[in-house]
Parts: sequence; structure tokens; C-alpha cells
Amino acid sequence: MPHYYIWTIGCQMNKAESERLSSLFEQQGYQATAAAEEADIIVLNSCVVRQSAENRVINKLNALKSLKRSRPSLTLAVTGCLVNSDTEQLKKTFPLVDHFFKPGDYPQWLEKAEWEQALLQHPSPSVYVPIIQGCDNFCSYCIVPYRRGRERSRPVAEITGEVRELVYRGVKEVTLLGQNVDSYGHDLPDKPDLADLLNELNTIDGLARLRFLTNHPKDMNTKLIETAAYLDKVCEQISLPVQSGNNDILKAMRRGYIVEHYCRLITEIRHKIPEVALSTDVIVGFPSESEEQFQQTFDLLSELKFDTVHVAAYSPRPGTIAAKELEDNIPAAEKKRRLNIIEQLQESIAAEINAQLLGTTVEVLVEGKKNGKWQGRTRSGKLVFFSDKGDYLGQLVNIRIEKTSPWSLKGRIELSSMN
Ligand code: SF4
Repeated sequence: MPHYYIWTIGCQMNKAESERLSSLFEQQGYQATAAAEEADIIVLNSCVVRQSAENRVINKLNALKSLKRSRPSLTLAVTGCLVNSDTEQLKKTFPLVDHFFKPGDYPQWLEKAEWEQALLQHPSPSVYVPIIQGCDNFCSYCIVPYRRGRERSRPVAEITGEVRELVYRGVKEVTLLGQNVDSYGHDLPDKPDLADLLNELNTIDGLARLRFLTNHPKDMNTKLIETAAYLDKVCEQISLPVQSGNNDILKAMRRGYIVEHYCRLITEIRHKIPEVALSTDVIVGFPSESEEQFQQTFDLLSELKFDTVHVAAYSPRPGTIAAKELEDNIPAAEKKRRLNIIEQLQESIAAEINAQLLGTTVEVLVEGKKNGKWQGRTRSGKLVFFSDKGDYLGQLVNIRIEKTSPWSLKGRIELSSMN
């Protein structure tokens, strides 16, 4: 039996697409292997959102050179955000790669593949479902619109059919994915929006939970917030990247909103979804970010107290507006210092928020086992571990929290757990 090996880095979109590729290979009689040396087909699903990620992809390609040379029949393919429109240039740069295909595209060289039906036979209880590809926003620092192209929404009926099938195969929780889920549907004939899609999916029997990410502060609206608050399957978890606490930096980032608008949105979300867990993304060391501007980001995070903050040091991506027009003038050591300060702040905020769960009982969807312990997530997205001899995979269980940390919770199962 031939083998395939898929290596994935980057966002949830890449992970979701890799799962679909796995399913396509399995439909065609391939078996997964964890060792590249055993594979007949290798796919690298790449990310170039930061220089460090791009370096990892290039290192991986270099590491595979000798394998490909010793076994020319091996098929080597690359997808993800490394793949731009100029595949001829990519072929010249990486001559040992047989195929490049754009993220989310149908890999034409895979014969008889049914891309839309590429669902795993035995999916995890919690899966990602892409609903919109690409991005129309062109934030000045971001390479994604150049690599993933303009926004393309999948029809409501297609997504609903897919989620029904996934539920039939055992899935309990679906996270709807897109670079900007709030612009879902504007390119479809009837112009449905994300709220309409959530309403439709919420009616699916057997589906227990719905999530969606990533939101954009300029596009998220009251209709969506109220729909998320009202629908019983939509979890109390919202991801809303702010990127900076200073309006001049937001303008240079071309984000399309100001801090005051962002704070109003957070107030509205917390008012309408009181149990909500909020996460955000922040970039430090953006060109010309002064100490004072950085301090405003720090102050905003201190005030809003997110459950999770993803912080990145600015890294210029060739081809973006920021890379062309703005000097990368914050020294690497200073970026690192600012990043560490935000990470330390967030660690103490998350510790404080999670400590409030001590002694409470939370509903957990069990997704698997790690180091002998069951692990799953609460409706608010908190990672929970517990030990028990029973088989709980895919079940909703009640866990009494006995220990908390900034990153996860530990507890024991309660006898009254439900399925
Ligand atoms: S919204 Fe901005 S940061 Fe997000 S993918 Fe689009 S361009 Fe990139």
C-alpha cells in the first residue's frame, strides 16, 4: 500500500486543509505515515506569515532534498501560503518540488479526487470547517491576501451538508474558519451572512457546539453578536484581533477601525454574552512604534483582560505595503522585550481569570488523550485535563475543576456527566 506524509505549520486553516488532503489520499488507497522516508507522496503545507515560519518551510524542503534525490519517484508537493501566483519562479527556486498548488485549491494532479467530499472517515469530535477563503482587507503587514487571494465564500447549503455528514461520522463540535468570517457571504447570490449560517447550522441534530474565527473588528456587527448570544449551540468564545492599542499604529496597519470602536465592541459582546471568553492578537514592534504607543497596547490589554492573547513581534513580509513603505526600525532585541512584557502580563491575567473556575463544574467535550490523561475543552475554549479509566472520547462530560494554571485546568469527572 502506498504511503503519504503531510507536514503542516501555520494557522487552523492550514490544519483543516491538511485534514482534507489526508482524506483525499485515503480515498485513493494511500496510508498515512509519520516518517517522510516511508512516503510515496510528501506534502508540505506551508506558512509564511512570519519570517520564522518561512525559514522552517525552507529548512524542511532542504532536509528533504537528499530523500528526493535518492528516490526520484517520490512525489514532493507544496501548498499553503508559500505558494504565490508565480509558480514558475517557485519551480526555479525549488527544482526538486514536483507540484505547487495554492492553499485551499483542488490539487489537480490527484486524479479522481472529490475535493468537496474530502471529509475524514473517522474525524475528531471537534473539527474545523473552512467557510470563506482569502481576504480582501490588505492590512499593511499581512501577506495572506497576496497568497490566498480574494474572498470566496462557500454556499450555505454546501457547508450545511458537510456539517451534517461530519455529525453523522461522530463530530460534536464545529469551528467555522476564515481569515475574516465576518465578511462571509457577501460574494454569494443571496448574500447570506455569518449569522444566517449559524442559524442554519444550529438546527442540526447531534451537533453540540459551534464556534467561529477569526473576526474582524471593522466587520463584526450587532446582528452577529446577538445571534451568537441567542443560539444555544454557539459557544461563549470570541476571537477579535486588536493588533495595537494606538490609533496611529492601527492606521499604519490599515486595520480600518480605531481603539474606541474596538472597546465598544468588547463592551457590547460582554454585555450580551456575559460568560464569554475573549481572545485577541497583538503585534509589537511595528515600524516606528514608540515606547508610548507600545504602552497604550499594554494598557489596553491590562484593562480589557482577555482570556488569551496571541502576541507576535513584527516581521516584514516582502511584497506587503508595510515592507515596501515602512522602515523596520525597531531593533530585534526591543521587539523581543516588548513581546516578553505582553506575555508576562497575559500570563498573570489568564492565571487570575482561570483561578475563578476553581471549584466550579464545567462541561467538557473530550477530544482525546495526552500523556495518559483525557483532554478536552469547555464551551469557552479552556483546555481541561482529567484522569479516569473509562472511555470518554467524543463525550460531553462534567468536570469539577481542582487545579488551574494560565494555560489549562485540571479536574475530576462528576458522576452525573451527560453524553
Ligand atoms: S484581515 Fe488583515 S491580517 Fe487578517 S488575513 Fe486579512 S489582511 Fe491579513
